[in-house]
Amino acid sequence: MRRSPIIHPFLFAIYPVLSVLTASLPLLNPIQAVRPTVIILSVSGLLLLIMHWFYKDWYRAGFMTSIVIMMLFYYGYSYRLPQEIHIFGIPILRHLIILCFWIVFLSILASKWLWQRVRPHVITNFLNISSGLAVLYALYLLAAYLFASSHDPLINWSRPLNTSEDTEQLAETYRPDIYYIILDGYARADVLQEIYNYDNSGFLDNLRTRGFYVAENSYTNYNQTDLSLASSLNFEYLDYLAFAKDVNTNREPIMNLMLNSRVRSWLEEDGYQIYLSGEYIFAEESDPALVFSVSEIQRLTTFESLLLESTMFEILIDLGHVNISNYTYQTHREKILNGFADTVNLVNKKGPKFVFAHIIAPHPPFVFDQDGNSVQPDWEYKIFDDRQLTGGFESYIEGYREELQYINGLVIKTIDNILQHSTAPPIIILQADHGPASLLDSTTNTSCLKERYSILNAYYFPDGHDEALYSTITPVNTFRIIFDSYFGTDLEILTDLNYFSIPKDPYRFTEVTNQVDTTCDISAYLR
Ligand SMILES: [Zn+2]
Repeated sequence: MRRSPIIHPFLFAIYPVLSVLTASLPLLNPIQAVRPTVIILSVSGLLLLIMHWFYKDWYRAGFMTSIVIMMLFYYGYSYRLPQEIHIFGIPILRHLIILCFWIVFLSILASKWLWQRVRPHVITNFLNISSGLAVLYALYLLAAYLFASSHDPLINWSRPLNTSEDTEQLAETYRPDIYYIILDGYARADVLQEIYNYDNSGFLDNLRTRGFYVAENSYTNYNQTDLSLASSLNFEYLDYLAFAKDVNTNREPIMNLMLNSRVRSWLEEDGYQIYLSGEYIFAEESDPALVFSVSEIQRLTTFESLLLESTMFEILIDLGHVNISNYTYQTHREKILNGFADTVNLVNKKGPKFVFAHIIAPHPPFVFDQDGNSVQPDWEYKIFDDRQLTGGFESYIEGYREELQYINGLVIKTIDNILQHSTAPPIIILQADHGPASLLDSTTNTSCLKERYSILNAYYFPDGHDEALYSTITPVNTFRIIFDSYFGTDLEILTDLNYFSIPKDPYRFTEVTNQVDTTCDISAYLR
């Protein structure tokens, strides 16, 4: 009898890595796949040896190894069930149901009864061929993606030069530290009053007594985080990307605009060090010029977290016993708290410095009550800003209002720390990238644009440069004013405009400047 090689356990083990890699390639550095690949292959080999020691039969050892690998790694596919399932009226955790199913299935497959009725080399050949085909298919998808992206006009796209502005140079006369603090989804006071029934004037007064100018009628230029930040950090509109609306929806150009922004390159050229704290989207790409002040909650790379999401470790993560995933309510809380703490810690770093702090609050999921106690929603962790995913309109309003109050306290504490411990008066920008989304939908007509576009926008400008600020300023003009006021440039103020696009089609911009100030009839949007 010819012997068949036992390669299927390794092929089954590598398949999930390849498919997660293909799915995450546009956003992640493929180097992240190396460590998990090495670990997974080693564990599979070890498992095979243990099974052989136990069964004294390579065919059966290979078979059992593959079954265990499938159970561990393909668990997630069986996992996408509702949180709780009711059987005879008794709520049973889905993990329990799926686990029982797997244990029964595994026991049958592992039984001597079954094994005596099969031909081992036939089974082995079958598993080799099926796992081989699966891996080939995953490789085909990967190759197809790489081929398509090599022809993608957006992959190698770079920001066109702005000939009149890009030659400007910052004067080195006075170089204050600059803190750009983004509170993701922080609404303007009138929206908080109208929709959230919350009076935020106490917080704004606290800012004003500390010397802040609050732009009371500010709107964001774009309704999505990355577009908004790409625009504000380059102090220009993204019209040059509108051509892409009929090309595809690759977001890589937006990421590049955020990471290699004009604010960054201009300040770096002027001797500034760039620091990032909080959640800096996709900036884990290695970039020696950036200093990450992200406290050690990144237990795994993003790739490893995504990979783990479909494995059996999900149970431990869900039950809160193992805190290794970057995507849990607990890590979300830590990211928010660390974002503030890290920003405070950066105050002592030698200047001049630009501190970009991106805090994912009061953006959903809402994880703090007004006193800072942990809130643990009973649905799966998702970071999407959508009332449907946060328990509906009432739940969104309530959760948002609670978290906002706690965040307000953290903001004031952070500001006080920065002001007290800075050696020279710094510039502080406290800004939202967009408003909340309790009444947001996929079209301009079915969304309350005022809620989504009205933002918190407050400035601490030392040495009396406030006069350049105005109440309707939008983020596209933030750094124009800073550079003109403090660095002697001659950038003009752009007309404040607002653009709408949906996440699935980021470059199909619709100008909504005339619609963003319409007061919303809440009931009309909830139908
Ligand atoms: Zn955002």
